[in-house]
Amino acid sequence: MIKPICDYCQKELDEFGGLLLSPPDESNKCQKFHICKLCYQKLEQLKEENEKLKDEIKKLKHKYMELDEKYIRLISDEDS
Ligand SMILES: [Zn+2]
Repeated sequence: MIKPICDYCQKELDEFGGLLLSPPDESNKCQKFHICKLCYQKLEQLKEENEKLKDEIKKLKHKYMELDEKYIRLISDEDS
């Protein structure tokens, strides 16, 4: 029996992993990727980390906007 190879880490799959299908192309064909358990976990972790980073960026944007407002106020105070 030929063991499939994980398309992410190129290691042989010792146990059943996951399958990833690409969106269909013009001729309606999908690319099929094998993914081992470990790489799947990594993908899930990446997703989580991505969400955390998004939150972080939102907070920073908010802070930046606050600072910007303060700055504008300071400038306009100086003018008057
Ligand atoms: Zn892998």
